Amino acid sequence: MASNVNKTKRQALLAKIEEDREAIAKFVRDLVRAKSPNPPGDTRSSMQCVRDFLDARDVPYRMENRDETMPNLVATTTFGRHDKHLVLNGHIDVFPVPDPAQWSIDPWAAQERDGAIYGRGVADMKVGTVASIVTYTYARSMADGQLDGRLTLAVVSDEETFGPNGTRHLFDVCPEEITGTAVLVGEPSSRHTVRLGEKGMLWLRFKVETHGGHGAYVHMGPSAVDQASTVIADLRKFAEFDFQEPPSIVAALTEAGETYDRAFGRGASENARRVTMNVGRINAGTNVNMIAPQCTFEVDFRLPMGVVIKDALDHIEKLRETHCFSYDIMMSSEPNWTEPNHEFVEIVAKNAETIAGAPPQLIPGLGSTDARLWRNRGIPAVVYGPAPRGMGATDEHVPVEEIFDVVRCHLLSAFDYLSTNDK
Ligand SMILES: [Zn+2]
Repeated sequence: MASNVNKTKRQALLAKIEEDREAIAKFVRDLVRAKSPNPPGDTRSSMQCVRDFLDARDVPYRMENRDETMPNLVATTTFGRHDKHLVLNGHIDVFPVPDPAQWSIDPWAAQERDGAIYGRGVADMKVGTVASIVTYTYARSMADGQLDGRLTLAVVSDEETFGPNGTRHLFDVCPEEITGTAVLVGEPSSRHTVRLGEKGMLWLRFKVETHGGHGAYVHMGPSAVDQASTVIADLRKFAEFDFQEPPSIVAALTEAGETYDRAFGRGASENARRVTMNVGRINAGTNVNMIAPQCTFEVDFRLPMGVVIKDALDHIEKLRETHCFSYDIMMSSEPNWTEPNHEFVEIVAKNAETIAGAPPQLIPGLGSTDARLWRNRGIPAVVYGPAPRGMGATDEHVPVEEIFDVVRCHLLSAFDYLSTNDK
């Protein structure tokens, strides 16, 4: 139970959010309007919006850029000597909008409809990033003995394509500042779920080459397209790979079932426990009447807990014994998981429970986030943000009230973790 002192302080923090409702909602809208689709990943206008918010509140920070079009912002406050160090991480790049006409509303206007703000990137993850920034701003003003340890804010670029210019760059240039003892990321989860892990990913680029030829002379040689389609079909067989799931994951996903499907779409809880494969890009041939001499295609494998990247690579190497193709790894990340009994997980879960009125399910996510970079280093990483409505698709939106839920959960969790008083 929270001590009475803490209770009063927590109430004061909640009151502050209420007071600032307009400013927080405006910050979300401004950030959505500052377009930052990745690719190309130019986030300068979004970052300017973040800087304006912090400058107006006299919050110091510095920039750590590897690519000037993909800026990263770091701010840190040391409250006391305790070794607890919470890192708040959020990205400001968003998915592109391939066809705005498919939206029922302007994807970059941040308009409000039926009590929700619509726009590309509002769920993934401008609301979550705003929660981190507001949390940092409020907590910083408590540097008067109410908090101990350290709080770091990292607002980054280049996340949607897992490029080298964002969080990965920060681990290169300021690892001590960015590592921390726990991390909170406002990527989409939902009011009823806290994400403690994610499936692994393995992105591969394959190349099939043949001699090509005239399209009428198919007896003369094979087509790279035909060969590639056989390779694709055989790659899919990896989905039947037999593996052992860790018991804590099985327990979490069995319990979460319904809630998980509600948050991530029907079939999501089943998806979380199996290997999936998506062929996202394909490129081949020159003319309709020529045998394609070359076919390249890109494959995105997602690996559940219990499968490792080597298992997938072994499968591919085995295919090379009977098929002719080459490949290279574009990106890889092992499946990762933070144990649910860590102090910071319990804190976030408790606050999420207060907000939703029921304990959240502690689950792995399907997609990858920067949280993996901490978990892969053994640091507990917790994801709590809005539901992923329209994420990566059309009509992405977040109900206005949910914005404040996320801000509340982040702020109270940071306070609880770093508070000097007994919980
Ligand atoms: Zn994201």
